[in-house]
Amino acid sequence: MSIKQGKTDVILIGAGIMSATLGTMLKELAPDWEITVYEKLAKPGEESSNEWNNAGTGHSALCELNYTPEKPDGSIDITKAVNVNEQFQLSRQFWSYLVSKGLIHNPQDFIRPIPHMSLVEGEANVAFLKKRFKALSAHPLFEGMTFSDDPEQLKEWIPLVMEGRTSNEPIAATKSDAGTDVNFGALTRILFDHLERQDVEINYKHAVQDIQRTPEGNWEVKVHDIEHNRIEYHTAKFIFIGAGGGSLPLLQKTGIPESKHIGGFPVSGLFMVCNNPEVINRHHAKVYGKAKVGAPPMSVPHLDTRYIDHKKCLLFGPFAGFSPKFLKTGSNLDLIGSVKPNNVVTMLASGAKNVPLVKYLIGQLLLSDEKRLETLQEFIPDARLEDWDVVVAGQRVQVIKDTEAGGKGTLQFGTEVVTAADGSVAALLGASPGASTAVHVMLEVIEKCFPDRKNAWAPKIKEMIPSYGVRLAENPELLHQIHAETAETLGLTEKEPAYR
Ligand SMILES: Cc1cc2nc3c(=O)[nH]c(=O)nc-3n(C[C@H](O)[C@H](O)[C@H](O)COP(=O)(O)OP(=O)(O)OC[C@H]3O[C@@H](n4cnc5c(N)ncnc54)[C@H](O)[C@@H]3O)c2cc1C
Repeated sequence: MSIKQGKTDVILIGAGIMSATLGTMLKELAPDWEITVYEKLAKPGEESSNEWNNAGTGHSALCELNYTPEKPDGSIDITKAVNVNEQFQLSRQFWSYLVSKGLIHNPQDFIRPIPHMSLVEGEANVAFLKKRFKALSAHPLFEGMTFSDDPEQLKEWIPLVMEGRTSNEPIAATKSDAGTDVNFGALTRILFDHLERQDVEINYKHAVQDIQRTPEGNWEVKVHDIEHNRIEYHTAKFIFIGAGGGSLPLLQKTGIPESKHIGGFPVSGLFMVCNNPEVINRHHAKVYGKAKVGAPPMSVPHLDTRYIDHKKCLLFGPFAGFSPKFLKTGSNLDLIGSVKPNNVVTMLASGAKNVPLVKYLIGQLLLSDEKRLETLQEFIPDARLEDWDVVVAGQRVQVIKDTEAGGKGTLQFGTEVVTAADGSVAALLGASPGASTAVHVMLEVIEKCFPDRKNAWAPKIKEMIPSYGVRLAENPELLHQIHAETAETLGLTEKEPAYR
């Protein structure tokens, strides 16, 4: 096996939406920096960021009920919903900047307007939704949200969901026309094409195997060039580990103190995909339900109008399941291989705490087609098995760590940026709200890893993201202006988008 060596300013590991976003931002902020990417697969955006592997929801808490928990006193806590929505506004602004600059030609290639709806049945759930609606619709970020518990109105909004419904239970929904469907796979490919044109060196079929500090304080990555079966060593001052589910094992290789006492819990998924154009054309919304008691937030199936390959599609899911793999293309040994002396206690504590969750996920995994159809029929009572196929979704690796509130081995459902104290390496762990908040998360990476550039880069960041550093929730005028401008630039103003 021959050996190749090289040196660069920045190494991005993985060609998903996170590396795509960070690479694009850094190229705008520091155009002369040399950036090199290593991706183990043959193309960008093939793992979680691929359109068939995630749900494509532009998460902004317009429909996801898990972002607005009910407090013990019965009131609704909207803190998380406000934060997620604020974060999505940053993504909208950055994408608009790329469109305005001509770096993205046609926004319809990756983003479309689609109503976001929450749908619940039963008296207690309807009461919860009403309270949630009251709390959110009074807030500037959620303006325009509407509520209805009138079956006739719901029939207009979601005919497919209301038809054939025999239950006498009260039913209600909220609807927001500010929702979006985002094709994160297409966006990732667009951004990598752009980076390639900017002379970023992108190496596909190159798997990073190890990361070590050099005596000078830089980082050296050991890379397997899969096609030529040779080992390469490359050094850089800054490394971003954007390897999705593969980030945790690589972070552990760095040996930095911040990588210790962290574990990963993989959750697999399945989507049902409608193959009947008549059914597909009778629905136009993303409809989220409420998680069943005891079920984790990522297991709430939703009925989603999507735009994939410029075609309108209808997907239901994801059904969560358990798999020991950290990537869809990963190995069954991933989970066991991630258990290290420094995280074994954390992992064991988590195992003991999460037996019901594992049982739930295995139960989900073993569901027959008929059982899955029963879940779908809670949304589309007249659904027929022959109209639906099953596709395997991406893997999510939830972070396990010790926290003050939850104690040892607490399962986290969010996204976490882990950085070395000197900012020379950063890794992204976790999966939710995920791709929608890539811009917010990468701004966090930039702030933590390049504090000395803060002042020099601030004007350019403001040009890319005009609300940078300002809470839109507290500046309704700026919010309205930015919302209108980004809607215009991204083509999100039509109610019923034209699609080819
Ligand atoms: C079922 C499901 C539904 C989801 N729904 C949504 C949603 O509706 N909205 C939303 O915003 N987010 C959603 N997400 C989350 C979102 O998909 C992820 O947060 C996002 O795609 C992560 O991007 P990434 O770049 O970190 O990882 P990825 O897209 O997984 O990219 C990581 C890349 O690193 C490569 N890699 C791994 N190891 C190595 C190595 N050793 N060497 C070189 N390359 C390596 C992989 O091949 C891959 O290409 C969902 C995720 C799943 C699984």
